[in-house]
Amino acid sequence: MSKLQIKSFEEYQQKYSQSVENPEKFWEEIAEEFYWQKKWDSVLEWNFDEPKIEWFKGAKLNITENALDRHLEKRGDKLALIWEPNDPKQRFVRYTYRELYEQVCQFANALKAKGIQKGDRVCIYMPMIPELTIAVLACARIGAIHSVIFAGFSATSVADRVNDAQAKMVITADGLNRGAKQIPLKRLIDEALEHCTSVESVIVFDCLGWMPTMTENRDYWWHDAISGQSKSCPAEQMDAEDMLFILYTSGSTGKPKGVVHTCGGYMVYTAYTFQNVYQYQESDVYWCTADIGWITGHSYIVYGPLLSGATTVMFEGIPTYPDPGRFWQIIDKHNVNQFLTAPTAIRSLMAFGDEHVLSYSLDSLKVLGTVGEPINEEAWKWYYLHVGKERCSIADNWWQTETGGIMISGLGNISPMKPSYAGYPIPGIQPVLLDQEGKEIADNETEGYLCIKFPWPSILRTTWGDHERCKLTYFSHYKGYYFTGDAAKRDENGMYRLLGRVDDVINVSGHRFGTAEIENAINTNGHVIESAVVGYPHPVKGQSIYAFVVLDSSVEDQDMAKGEIVETVVAEIGKIALPEKIQFVSGLPKTRSGKIMRRILRKIAEGDVSNLGDTSTLLDPLVVEEIVENAL
Ligand code: ATP
Ligand code: MG
Repeated sequence: MSKLQIKSFEEYQQKYSQSVENPEKFWEEIAEEFYWQKKWDSVLEWNFDEPKIEWFKGAKLNITENALDRHLEKRGDKLALIWEPNDPKQRFVRYTYRELYEQVCQFANALKAKGIQKGDRVCIYMPMIPELTIAVLACARIGAIHSVIFAGFSATSVADRVNDAQAKMVITADGLNRGAKQIPLKRLIDEALEHCTSVESVIVFDCLGWMPTMTENRDYWWHDAISGQSKSCPAEQMDAEDMLFILYTSGSTGKPKGVVHTCGGYMVYTAYTFQNVYQYQESDVYWCTADIGWITGHSYIVYGPLLSGATTVMFEGIPTYPDPGRFWQIIDKHNVNQFLTAPTAIRSLMAFGDEHVLSYSLDSLKVLGTVGEPINEEAWKWYYLHVGKERCSIADNWWQTETGGIMISGLGNISPMKPSYAGYPIPGIQPVLLDQEGKEIADNETEGYLCIKFPWPSILRTTWGDHERCKLTYFSHYKGYYFTGDAAKRDENGMYRLLGRVDDVINVSGHRFGTAEIENAINTNGHVIESAVVGYPHPVKGQSIYAFVVLDSSVEDQDMAKGEIVETVVAEIGKIALPEKIQFVSGLPKTRSGKIMRRILRKIAEGDVSNLGDTSTLLDPLVVEEIVENAL
């Protein structure tokens, strides 16, 4: 493992240069560290026009041999997975690498016995329990393509995804615990499957003892399915470019796309980035709070850590149950060394006051990660001060479902840090900023559309069933570039700061603002918990700024709060960025992965509330009604 790890910033700079000068040699050396049944004929073949991208062409492998079998000799008794339940009073569960290997093989045999073969699609709709990880790896073991669906999506969203993938099987549970709530997963699957014809069988894990209705010759209990199955299972031989999984993006901006990742490149890149960004050491315990229903969970709970022989924590619950100290309690309980969460969680925990975090020692922590949205300076500082106790480094991970792994981020304690900046690109990643005409901007101290000009091993290969959509969305805006859809800024030292989505950029009298910059300023006000800004048409200025702001409960005089917010924005950015309208709201519309959905707020700001688009992927649709009612 250590061979892949960069140890100093100087070494990072050296490696980065090598990766740009000779990308194939660079990635080939990294790939050599993995176990391949057969090596590649060529490292990389690509063109961004079709697009067609092939890494390690001709190589044969199975990713689970690298995540499990390879570790058995040296790490067979090492903990692979620590599972922490929703309820702190319930016992936690641990799996060594050998135990995980056996469970995966046994379930893989159960899948085969139900007729699942290489290339079949299997949808997984499960709680955050170890069996979810086992199901994912069991699919990979036999070459079935997994499509994990976040277990918070409605029956309709599940049906859409099952149908799009033409899945042959669904793996689920009777129900799940999330905080004080329970969700009847099997009932939702039954509802969804009324609209799906491709599914032949459903495997149900008994999580809550609910005894749901089981349809004969279609539904099988997990424990029955594995009963009598062997605990070893040969790994299916996969081509490096065979599909590993489909994952639908979280849908902050529109109809979900089935992003496709393949076996070889994804393996190499997730392991490489995990080891470098988190600077994982052999006896460390690493915890990512994401759900495996999102790409972060795929790459940095399951694949990246297990490929690296790490101990990975998996948490069933939520940050505020039974109280807002739950994350910190888990860190102390399992002596977590590296911790990764989302800005939305950090901001919501900040709002509960510092006493919850201050009552835990958090001594074990070394690296703190943040991912999913731009992190505002105030949240960054709180994380650094109260969670990291000014000892830990913060790694702000910018990447996307489509990129498979982290693209721009600090590397543990070896990179310089700057609040609200993601930092420098990972070796092998060539980001560029384009101006409005699509020309590369060479200078620093600039901003533009963030594109990537050279492939990396885990770039998406297609969108499932619709290659044209992949081409149009990512490779057609600017010829020869992968278009991220995000805007970014580069400072005088070449560090990157993400400004928000290009679609959300606000243009006031010819001045262009990323949403993140203005929100960052608003959030510096001590009474603001969270905010979202959007543009709306203005006859003279082109656009004006509309801010939706969540205040803490201690604020009594809202007019005074408005005045203060205006002052902060003027002081931080200038008069030009002044929000013309400020609406106080009790919450913001968010995707089920916790990201602010500005698309809906924009419509409200424009006064166009008759058609708010698809709100089915929202965390809390009720909040939208309240915002519409009180809109200015
Ligand atoms: P959809 O593509 O369906 O609209 P989504 O973009 O939210 O959904 P993801 O792939 O989970 O789905 O998220 C990637 C996006 O999240 C990035 O393009 C960026 O806008 C934002 N993002 C992720 N991490 C960061 C970060 N560290 N800093 C700033 N923005 C981030
Ligand atoms: Mg996206």
